[in-house]
Amino acid sequence: MKRQLAKYYKLLVFFVCTTLFVFCTQIVIAQNNYNLATQGKQNVQLIVSSDFVVTMDETQPVIKNGAVAIKDGKIVAIDTQDKIRASYRANRTLLGEGMVLMPGLVNGHSHSAMVLFRGLADDLALEDWLQNYIFPAEGKFVDENFVRVGEQLACWEMIRGGTTTFVDMYFEPDIAAEVIDECGLRAMIAPSSIDFPSPGFQGWDDAFASSVNFLKRWKGKSDRIIPALAPHAPYTVSPEHLTQAIQTARHYDVPLTIHLAETQTEVKDVQQRYNATPVQHLENLGFLDPRVFAAHVVWPNESEIALMAKRGVGVIHNPDSNLKLASGFAPIPAMLKAGIDVGLGTDGAASNNVLDMWNAIRLTALIHKGTTLDPTAVPAKTVLRMATLGSAQALGLADKIGAIKTGLQADLIQVKLKEPHLLPLYDVMSHLVYAADASDVDTVIVNGQVLMHQREMLTVDINKIRREVVSIAEKIKAEFRPAN
Ligand SMILES: [Zn+2]
Repeated sequence: MKRQLAKYYKLLVFFVCTTLFVFCTQIVIAQNNYNLATQGKQNVQLIVSSDFVVTMDETQPVIKNGAVAIKDGKIVAIDTQDKIRASYRANRTLLGEGMVLMPGLVNGHSHSAMVLFRGLADDLALEDWLQNYIFPAEGKFVDENFVRVGEQLACWEMIRGGTTTFVDMYFEPDIAAEVIDECGLRAMIAPSSIDFPSPGFQGWDDAFASSVNFLKRWKGKSDRIIPALAPHAPYTVSPEHLTQAIQTARHYDVPLTIHLAETQTEVKDVQQRYNATPVQHLENLGFLDPRVFAAHVVWPNESEIALMAKRGVGVIHNPDSNLKLASGFAPIPAMLKAGIDVGLGTDGAASNNVLDMWNAIRLTALIHKGTTLDPTAVPAKTVLRMATLGSAQALGLADKIGAIKTGLQADLIQVKLKEPHLLPLYDVMSHLVYAADASDVDTVIVNGQVLMHQREMLTVDINKIRREVVSIAEKIKAEFRPAN
């Protein structure tokens, strides 16, 4: 009996030892295989791949089956998926079958919290709309809570539509900065200063002092919040105050944005008061330089276009707003030909009525063909460039954003090309300009952080925002009375 037990015991020991040996050998083989596979590979935070990568980089405009490697919020490599996989190992990989990866859209002109006035006053002339509806409504309703909720709604809408950077020209900039920082977007915040009373201010002096304090607080503080100055327009800000604004922008080395030559009424008004057309008026004040970018510029004359090109002034085209307020058609082909950095914007949602860059893209591609009677005017590739790199150049941020290039910030979007309006596919640029819309944006990444994936919002509480928007709108509905 004892001998039999000893025999079983030996067999058991042999079995356990053999199993352990086989198990350990397998671990060593697996480890060796893993080491072989990852040998020389660089660790990155994120790899994003797609069927097409549209780069806005002239040296390689479209990469088929491409991928981008991201580390510390920046693009460290862009190549075919095979090559990126062979050289990089990522903590997270986003696949992109049936998708195009492109730079995030850069909205060069908005008043984002105005989304809460969306649809409040339509079908009016700009002066009537501004003086009798928008300014009185702002005076009555714009406060910290309005800006907080409006900014949250705007961030939600912009992320849904693939905007990764926007220019925000409005009030309560510290609240806006806080909300934008939380939602993960990038923004140039340029608080508006104007010569007459505005929400929270008696006039120019206190409004401008507050803007300067804001830029002192935020300059150099964040990669994603860029402070700037914004005197409202030549017809609402005196020459002395415009001079003060540009001198301050130069002193603190910050960008400056302004509404300019938006309507024929403005041109007449400025001509009468200062004996010069709006762009020439700014030139006479020594105002124009590369840190300045102007919204609209619908009515420049030929010499003013040449002047803006010479001075390096950027222009943001807002076709939806110019059409809705019947401001006219900006001479975009002439400005592009003159070499001006032209970008795209939505303007505020009260004059658009959506913060949707795809609308601006498609309108830009269409209206200038119609107005010039030239179907080759402003082709698809040019418009897509305007919505990304063009805006980035106008804002003075092309060394950070606007293209998919090594060393730039990882602000990227994946656009799904699977819906019926995008089938079949011959030319990806054509689809992005003439067929895609905001709902085709699948994934949004800013500074390497994923803000939306497969249309799921990851940084904003949409149910809370919806409730708060309804509550503010109820108050506006009950109390708003136009001035006229
Ligand atoms: Zn505007």
